[in-house]
Amino acid sequence: MYSLGIDIGGTKIAAGVFDENHKLVKRTQVPTPQTATAINAQIASMYREAVEELGKIEAIGISAAGNVAADRRTMTFSANIPAWIDYPLADHIEELIDHEVPVIVENDANSAGWGEYIVGAGKGTKNMVMLTVGTGLGGAIIINGQLFRGSFGMAAEVGHLPMVPDGETCGCGLRGCAEKYISGTALERFARSAVRRRPQKGARLLELSGGDIDAIRGEMVSQAAKEGDELGLYAFNKIGEWLGRSMAAIATVLDPDTFIIGGGVVAVGDLLMKPAEYNFVRFLQAAAYRPHAQVLVATAGNDAGMIGVADLALQEVLNKQNA
Ligand SMILES: [Zn+2]
Repeated sequence: MYSLGIDIGGTKIAAGVFDENHKLVKRTQVPTPQTATAINAQIASMYREAVEELGKIEAIGISAAGNVAADRRTMTFSANIPAWIDYPLADHIEELIDHEVPVIVENDANSAGWGEYIVGAGKGTKNMVMLTVGTGLGGAIIINGQLFRGSFGMAAEVGHLPMVPDGETCGCGLRGCAEKYISGTALERFARSAVRRRPQKGARLLELSGGDIDAIRGEMVSQAAKEGDELGLYAFNKIGEWLGRSMAAIATVLDPDTFIIGGGVVAVGDLLMKPAEYNFVRFLQAAAYRPHAQVLVATAGNDAGMIGVADLALQEVLNKQNA
């Protein structure tokens, strides 16, 4: 039984066909087209190609950055694709493929979180929260082994957890959102501001950036921190502290057994995980008198979203058959 998972990213669309045991049987990838209509056509052609090669596909799951309505078919908003405002993405794809199979749409962070739950570090957990530290901060919540989407499909937007009153202005229009303090972008901002304030300590970061403070990038901060550079370590401690505070806030509400940290920034390992775990316990209510959630690094890799959304789509088909 095959399911097709499509991951629409900013630069590429990846498609993977998985069997019911989440085994990848076919994978393709193309650059992301510029318009919504061209994206639809691309997805339809990826489906046709998969059918030609493998025979029947039971379902299509599409993972995309942005807000997905509670119906799991409509993009209500996306920062990347302007046409995706109340856009019935699943309807459009189903029309293009003559309604041969059902299509579901899921937010990229939810898809990746589900992938992590079924094949990654979250396997075997019951209540799990995934936090993805990349350019921004994404999240997914699994409660009692089910993806928790909330009432309007808007749950787990942890990147916009209001952390700092009157803090940094966020792309969402509000101020002080968690992702302004926990992301690759925040890492760069903390490092640049540290070099400005303490230039005598900034020699290594300035050397890596060719002497230009504004040219300091995340990978330079990672490299400096790995070498033991004081300001590089400071920047990781800062985002780690905010990550820990956010986990404590989330634990107060959801009491999960596991947090999973994913995204590009976590590649530095302990440089981020140590301050995150330390501050998680530091800010956890009644920490001395309760079990603590385990904090793990994600293991499902870049295809987690594709695996996750393919499975969510297949589950939906099977649930309907059993209903
Ligand atoms: Zn925000």
